Amino acid sequence: MAKRDYYEVLGVSKTATEEEIKKAYRKIALQNHPDTHPNDKDAEERFKEASEAYEVLSDPKKRSAYDQFGFSGVNDFQGGAAGNYSNVYRDFSDIFGGAGFSDFFSSFFGGGRAQQRGGSYGEPGASLRYDITIDFTDAVNGCKKEISFSHKVKCDSCGGTGGTGRKTCPTCHGTGRVTSGNGFFQMASTCRNCGGSGYVIENPCASCHGTGTVSKREKLMVNIPAGVDNGSRLTLRGKGDAGTNGGADGDLVLFISVRPDRYFVREGNDVYLQIPVSITQAALGASILIPTVDGVNIKMDVPSGIQSGTMLRVKGRGIPSPRGSSRGDMYVRIMVETPRRLSMKAKSLMKELAGELKESDSPTPMEFQD
Ligand SMILES: [Zn+2]
Ligand SMILES: [Zn+2]
Repeated sequence: MAKRDYYEVLGVSKTATEEEIKKAYRKIALQNHPDTHPNDKDAEERFKEASEAYEVLSDPKKRSAYDQFGFSGVNDFQGGAAGNYSNVYRDFSDIFGGAGFSDFFSSFFGGGRAQQRGGSYGEPGASLRYDITIDFTDAVNGCKKEISFSHKVKCDSCGGTGGTGRKTCPTCHGTGRVTSGNGFFQMASTCRNCGGSGYVIENPCASCHGTGTVSKREKLMVNIPAGVDNGSRLTLRGKGDAGTNGGADGDLVLFISVRPDRYFVREGNDVYLQIPVSITQAALGASILIPTVDGVNIKMDVPSGIQSGTMLRVKGRGIPSPRGSSRGDMYVRIMVETPRRLSMKAKSLMKELAGELKESDSPTPMEFQD
């Protein structure tokens, strides 16, 4: 089941204010509230859809995660470990299952466990994690990388049905859940007989052993946008495990690591660089060539009398923002180098210079000397 964009659901722009979002949600919720529209499935769907969108867009943290990473930004990652994030949501809906809450909450917690006609549930495919390490310059300028990964795809032999002789699970009567306990406290858990699918297959497919999916290794060319940073994530929608029985496909999420550069250090979208200059360049001023993250060298004027450690800013030579056209700046720290070896002539010129310089020529006179 494809999900609609949250902004689209509420009919607001991506730049909508909190107030506009609230207003839009209130309107939809009032028009479609289950209390005023009993047994109206469409209204109920619209109400749930809007509630889910509002839940995310009204929370600045969730909204920014959604803006950046789409549904996976708000659905995934709390799970942590083994890369199968949708399990978390299965557990969530189990917690709230039973007492009539299940459908409402499972839709909130984003599992995509869509209720099918006939009472069975589509299982969403798992979202998968793929770690990739790229060079600093590739991160700055963007790059194409071929990745090879394996994920579950629909089984060709059975068309994803898992086999023939499908019938409603006798244990859970097709609900995918069993309830235990009695009285007020009831616990619902996933039915073990059918694994939560709500049905059993009498003649399971030999290729997929009745699961409807098989593992497949695939190669994919990925466009990594310019400006990604260490820790950036990139979501490839629908490239995770295939859902079964109408469940949504999971995403493939690239976790990007960036190798440090020898010269450039990144901070946000700005970049820092140290450049050595000679003592005469520092004293007289100079025009020098410096590298940039684009790979081209540019000219920079070093003003006369510059002190070691001074930082010069080169505007717009930093990292491009992955969204939008803005760019950070480059900061160049000037390091004045004292020559290690002096020729006879250089030495005598230095001595002559030493006699020529007065204390007042130095910006920080050594007042502690007598
Ligand atoms: Zn069952
Ligand atoms: Zn099969």
